[in-house]
Amino acid sequence: MKQAGTETISVPPLFSFWMTYKIIITGLGAAGMSMLYHCINSSLINSDILVIDKGMEHQSEKTWCYWSEKPLEIHPKSLHSPISWNKIKIISEQELLEKNLGKLNYYMLSSTELYREIWEQMKQHPTITFIQDEIMNISAQQNTTSVDTAHHGSFSGEMVFNSSVYSGASTTKPLLHQSFLGWEIESQEDCFDPESVTLMDFRTGKKNTSDFVYILPLGKRKGLVEYTQFTKAKRLNASFLQQQLQKYIRNNLGISQFKILRKEHGFIPMTTNKMVGETFPSIIHSGTVGGCTKASTGYTFHNIQLHCKSIVESMVKTPSGKLPSHYVRKSRFRFYDNIILNIAYKWPERLPETFFNLFQVNQGAEILDFLHEKTGFWQEIALLKKVNFGVFLKSLRNYEAY
Ligand SMILES: Cc1cc2nc3c(=O)[nH]c(=O)nc-3n(C[C@H](O)[C@H](O)[C@H](O)COP(=O)(O)OP(=O)(O)OC[C@H]3O[C@@H](n4cnc5c(N)ncnc54)[C@H](O)[C@@H]3O)c2cc1C
Repeated sequence: MKQAGTETISVPPLFSFWMTYKIIITGLGAAGMSMLYHCINSSLINSDILVIDKGMEHQSEKTWCYWSEKPLEIHPKSLHSPISWNKIKIISEQELLEKNLGKLNYYMLSSTELYREIWEQMKQHPTITFIQDEIMNISAQQNTTSVDTAHHGSFSGEMVFNSSVYSGASTTKPLLHQSFLGWEIESQEDCFDPESVTLMDFRTGKKNTSDFVYILPLGKRKGLVEYTQFTKAKRLNASFLQQQLQKYIRNNLGISQFKILRKEHGFIPMTTNKMVGETFPSIIHSGTVGGCTKASTGYTFHNIQLHCKSIVESMVKTPSGKLPSHYVRKSRFRFYDNIILNIAYKWPERLPETFFNLFQVNQGAEILDFLHEKTGFWQEIALLKKVNFGVFLKSLRNYEAY
């Protein structure tokens, strides 16, 4: 691999100007790394690939979780066997629900670990060039696609795979976001159930907001505890999120003394609309900006894998074939997501009972398959006919797309 950071440039810029890369990957986060992984494991690795990212040093470690029967192909293999659970909990003010996931497991991976593995793989391939720079614009004319950077000029590619947010893009502003703060903590007493992930604990004491706590137990005394709130456009301030976390840890986990090992925070758009407006046949948007985020839950990682795998397979099978500009999902899943987002937006106090009820009346694996959009229409009817549909009908009568 040739690396051209802002300090050390080993790719002569003029040479880069003249060449047309087969693929330019803009953004090396979850989507960029996944695309690169699938390219490396296909015949596309024999073509020139340029990767541009403004740098990983400003990014803190994140945990990415997904559910599946087996670990995904990309799951880091180097350090230990994958961390996973087979049970989940949903907790309301009144009741605790524990669901066995049957054939499925809930897997967790570290973004830093994945990055380390992908970086090692990149180094072994001279066809991959990495440039650390800010992407300013991506545009397409007839046969070429250009990526303009802040310091290294412009680059041409046959195809651009984008998951970055660049200033030249026309983006839409979602009405709803998930704002969250997570602390990986260690306590002196046992306080976590290592067998079971808490997907949603609604005992936050708040009545007029959709908020919950998510817990990944990493032992009896260690775990990631995350406070999440669905918010209307604004990012919640750090001190408010900290207070909510502290309150939950003290009141619900019963811990007064703990050490914070790591922090993570996020602001995930909850929308069924396209985040980036422009569509050109040679530019594919993926990751959060490309519509991989499931609007009603915020889960993105699994969809990114499906997206990258299918793009690479299509490019190998039909090199001149047309590819969709964004991640494509069936329209009925956008409709279901809008029903949920409508509840979150207009009647946030009803969201806890809605999610709780969905899990209460269905098998854990069934509802997770539904949230992965893997179910068939008649399965969905069977799932939905068991729920209390008062609030769903209310949402349907006042339907809006978000
Ligand atoms: C803390 C956290 C935890 C999450 N946990 C989960 C989870 O458990 N499961 C799940 O499914 N989803 C999860 N998500 C949601 C989603 O999977 C992640 O946000 C994921 O990182 C999205 O991937 P991405 O490639 O779209 O964006 P990112 O991973 O953010 O990657 C974008 C990349 O583009 C680069 N970039 C952006 N703009 C520019 C620019 N102008 N120029 C150059 N480079 C640029 C950035 O440096 C970055 O490397 C989580 C999100 C967060 C924030």
